[in-house]
Amino acid sequence: MSDQLKVRNVTVLGATGSIGLSTLDVIRCHPNRFRVFALSAATKVGELAALCERFVPRFAVMTDNDAATQLRATLRVRSPSTEVLAGREGLEFVAAHSEVDVVMAAIVGAAGLKSSLAAAYAGKRVLLANKEALVMAGRLFMNAIANSGATLLPIDSEHNAVFQSLPRNYARGLANVGVEKIVLTASGGPFRTRPIDSLAQVTPDEACAHPNWAMGRKISVDSATMMNKGLEVIEARWLFDAEAEMIDVVIHPQSVVHSMVTYRDGSVIAQLGNPDMRTPIAYGLGFPDRIAAGVGALDLAKVGRLDFETLDLARFPCVGLAYEAMRRGGTAPAVLNAANEVAVEAFLANRLRFIDIPQLIEDVLSKISADDATSLEGILAADQLARTATRDMLATRAARV
Ligand code: NAD
Ligand code: MG
Repeated sequence: MSDQLKVRNVTVLGATGSIGLSTLDVIRCHPNRFRVFALSAATKVGELAALCERFVPRFAVMTDNDAATQLRATLRVRSPSTEVLAGREGLEFVAAHSEVDVVMAAIVGAAGLKSSLAAAYAGKRVLLANKEALVMAGRLFMNAIANSGATLLPIDSEHNAVFQSLPRNYARGLANVGVEKIVLTASGGPFRTRPIDSLAQVTPDEACAHPNWAMGRKISVDSATMMNKGLEVIEARWLFDAEAEMIDVVIHPQSVVHSMVTYRDGSVIAQLGNPDMRTPIAYGLGFPDRIAAGVGALDLAKVGRLDFETLDLARFPCVGLAYEAMRRGGTAPAVLNAANEVAVEAFLANRLRFIDIPQLIEDVLSKISADDATSLEGILAADQLARTATRDMLATRAARV
């Protein structure tokens, strides 16, 4: 038997982001396994140009039209074989292209939904970092994966850990394979121990200074409010077909135990590792093989101790809001996600206080009733409605002050 590897063509959506760059870092170590087929970015022309020069992809997509024109001019000299596409359609084109084997979906937020879905419909190996796609359109997304024969591998470290801790036949149903709970770990972010009455003064830079992970600014704020964990609970619900009651969250400040599964017989299976996204990325790229990720060995003696604490829902109301939206179902999680994106953007622009983020989301959730989430149009309409409602509420607040 030949052990010649087939070189896989990879599209990296969101290539200039934290996950995108980590993905390219892993790919770079395995030139005999992976070839970069397409790269995308929203606006960062210089950064995408440098990546194109280095990886020489067939396609580069800039969602901003002016940025695409600039990139085209730059690449004419620096990577003439790369074709530059513009706009959202370009993203879907490179996600679904017949020559693509693997799609890393690493655009942040609802902006990543359509291209993540396009990869799912096209039957690709989908490495999903863009958790917001599952939060908004979980059922559609999972149906698309099942119907197209795509392979979905979770990149979010917690879900990757759960995936690694489940038996291979878990699709028979969690209860049927003896699973009692999925336990997602959470670091608690930068404000786990900060006095609650000082949270009103938190600045964007403080919120983005995560103790264990270097990430994009949106997910960093989500980690500080712990909405990130709320979104991850919904993500786990869809990925593993789990009831809300089966998903627990435990605080684990060291971020070494990335999540665990508890079984009927009392066993707990967990995945551990240094907090470095290249580990779950390499797992997704290489699956079922284990390939080098460029991550150092975990030294437990150096880590010293692993602590666990109960989640304080009064400190982190966003987690409760996410459970509520998940139980309500339909488009409620899409509304939650949209309100959160607008609120986080406002906080990062110093237009909203940190402690007002959950209140604003709660107000939007109670104002907009949930419809069923059976069509993409319906989901996108709910997303738009929630964004408008959140912006209106922000404007009303601003007028009051
Ligand atoms: P980031 O902000 O660092 O990068 C985002 C990428 O998306 C960039 O390449 C940017 O150009 C692109 N992008 C942004 N807005 C866009 C738009 N409107 N249209 C098209 N492209 C756009 O974000 P990140 O930290 O890499 O996170 C990416 C995704 O992965 C998020 O969904 C996040 O929740 C998830 N995730 C990230 C981490 C992490 O460690 N960073 C861990 C787990 C999950
Ligand atoms: Mg995570």
